[in-house]
Amino acid sequence: MPRPELLARLAERQAERERAGLLRRLRAVEQAQGPRVRVDGRELLAFCSNDYLGLAQHPELIQALQRAADDCGVGSTAAHLVVGHHREHAALEEALADWTGRERALLFSTGYAANLGAQQALLGTDDLCVQDKLNHACLLDGARLAGCTLKRYLHADVAGAARQLATAPQAAALVASDGVFSMDGDLAPLAGLAALCAREGATLMIDDAHGLGVLGPRGAGSVADAGLAQTDVPVLMATLGKALGCAGAFVAGPAALIDGLTQFARSWVYSTALPPALAATARVAVALARRSDDRRDHLAVLIARFRTGAAQLGLPLAASTTPIQPLLLGDSAAAMRAAAALEARGLLVTAIRPPTVPEGTARLRITLSAAHGEADVDRLLDALAEIVPPLRAGEGSA
Ligand SMILES: *Cc1c(COP(=O)(O)O)cnc(C)c1O
Repeated sequence: MPRPELLARLAERQAERERAGLLRRLRAVEQAQGPRVRVDGRELLAFCSNDYLGLAQHPELIQALQRAADDCGVGSTAAHLVVGHHREHAALEEALADWTGRERALLFSTGYAANLGAQQALLGTDDLCVQDKLNHACLLDGARLAGCTLKRYLHADVAGAARQLATAPQAAALVASDGVFSMDGDLAPLAGLAALCAREGATLMIDDAHGLGVLGPRGAGSVADAGLAQTDVPVLMATLGKALGCAGAFVAGPAALIDGLTQFARSWVYSTALPPALAATARVAVALARRSDDRRDHLAVLIARFRTGAAQLGLPLAASTTPIQPLLLGDSAAAMRAAAALEARGLLVTAIRPPTVPEGTARLRITLSAAHGEADVDRLLDALAEIVPPLRAGEGSA
């Protein structure tokens, strides 16, 4: 047998994906004004960003970034342990620890890198990692990178998590879950997972990428919303690129965790620090998010309005109280048709298909933002009403 040629094999996989109707298409946003974006020369109203509080283009943040660029330039020039760690990073870490009620916090360049680094630092080949089946891809990849045994449980099933922990009662164990599930918008059974971990001597890690800024007192996240503290959830991860409207991520927890990460988390040690100007901007975003109860209240009004309207239309709503409001259509072709029909009406909602979501659960992942108005939600509902018959057809064929 001749050696397979890698690029040819990749092209073949792509062709296969295209035949299955699962090819991804990359599109460039030409201009954005909040949720109003120009794509391919057309103005569209988007319902698919993660800018839940509408901060990505907030004048205060833009001004903070401009000022900080004057002050600290663009690049951080190195990894944190070399000469890349700026006092702006340290100040942001303090602000994040304070907000989330943790002893310390450590910045990473992305949430993906944070999850890889934290799990790889904590877990070794003899250890066990127990995860929800619907966890974000990078939580799963982190466990794979760590080389530990990875066991998954059915979505939000605490008893299932207990059974998986019991498969290796002697092993050091991490239980990891999204706080708010990224494609479904529902909440993890946080109190149940915390009680399980306390009982079984396992460590709980929560990825709160979609909860921070949105849920909890002063937006402190899903863990604070559940009334849980650092002792219940020692490893808390969240990102700065969603509700905070910036980029980057952090892990927060006890000093022993953070100190250990600075020694052993390879995605932190061997990676260039975030631009310090961005850290300065994110600190302004944290302050803004903490005092944004008005934005969270407005978001709650939009969520209720959307759910009431969608229920009246008989749409297949998910059990979500967060800004993530997926419409499950089942079959990928139905999801693509629905997205195209919305786009023809000036609305942008990207269809989410396998392998991002399980087979048979393709959907429109509708997200709401405090930057939307009630009239925007009504426009979305009107458009959905017009395409209801094809949506139902998609449901039937799933
Ligand atoms: C977006 C996301 C990440 C990755 O964060 P990035 O900063 O975009 O790399 C991690 N976990 C969850 C649940 C996410 O939704």
